[in-house]
Amino acid sequence: MRAVVFENYGEFPSLTEVPKPEPGPGDALLRVAGAGACHSDISVYRLFEEGQPGAQKPPFVLGHENAGWVEAVGPGVSDRIEVGAAYMAYGPIGCGHCRQCAEGRETYCENAATMPYLAVGLGRDGGMAEYVTVPAHHLIPLGDADPVAAAPLADAGLTPYHAITQALPHLHGGGRFALVIGLGGLGQIGVQILCALTGATIIATDVKEGARKRAEDSGAITVGAGPDQVERIRALTGGRGVDAAFDFVGAGPTVAAAAACMAQGGRLSVVGIGGGTHEFSFFTNPYESYVTNTYWGSIRDLWEVVDMYKAGQIRPEVERFSMDDALEAYRRLEAGEISGRAVVTPNAR
Ligand SMILES: [Zn+2]
Ligand SMILES: [Zn+2]
Repeated sequence: MRAVVFENYGEFPSLTEVPKPEPGPGDALLRVAGAGACHSDISVYRLFEEGQPGAQKPPFVLGHENAGWVEAVGPGVSDRIEVGAAYMAYGPIGCGHCRQCAEGRETYCENAATMPYLAVGLGRDGGMAEYVTVPAHHLIPLGDADPVAAAPLADAGLTPYHAITQALPHLHGGGRFALVIGLGGLGQIGVQILCALTGATIIATDVKEGARKRAEDSGAITVGAGPDQVERIRALTGGRGVDAAFDFVGAGPTVAAAAACMAQGGRLSVVGIGGGTHEFSFFTNPYESYVTNTYWGSIRDLWEVVDMYKAGQIRPEVERFSMDDALEAYRRLEAGEISGRAVVTPNAR
């Protein structure tokens, strides 16, 4: 079968022929409907070097945002998994036996340091292929919802959902403000989730005008880039600042802007892996405010994301690419030419 393979550190992936996988014990074999191309894949093949934190050893098939149809199951899989039906696949893989894994939070597995890989598509073969194997207990039924549009929600929906639900106590009550920085795949869906789950006024910011327009269509007030960005955002809150901020970029300037927009008692969640830093001191932080990071989400969170997708509360914007054009999806993603999410459809006719 054909697959998008990350072959060597620092190298653009290749579209190549690999053996069709077999489902091992506890695994399901998925015929891939859609695999989302994510910005973190670019970090995986462009930035990371051997031995660096977060580096995943090549070669492996990319694709950690997957949905498809179960083709077969390995030994020991629940008979509730229906062969032929459409499922979303939760990507992160923990040890399966620690406090975090017991709660379905395999992202925060206590034994992650000794695991051979992070996730399907991150160290272990992923979904940018005709077939992929996944732990069967990671599958969430999609019913008759479109698995191609659903695929990117495995990260681009799950990550903002987890960050937002952790911050909900800060957004309960009247007159609350949420700030979304970065309106790519995650930020756009973040605005939709904030709209559905909170009554907060949502302020969103991005350098791209088209991205701001789409966020406005989802219910946000938007602010462009520029030297007075923080002032304009604070002015929208009557000067008080925002109660929760979500930085989907995480670079130095965005973390600084988010921190400067915070209200007392607010929560700043850095979600993007842009490597920005934040200096804390008694006099520079608003009283009783929090700065934290969140990474991906839990299996249960993904069940709830799928519920919101089925209910029409999350409306992913996807651009479909055939397997022939899979590398083109990554080229355009790197060039910043994808709005929403690029989804490769290996089995589309
Ligand atoms: Zn991702
Ligand atoms: Zn674990």
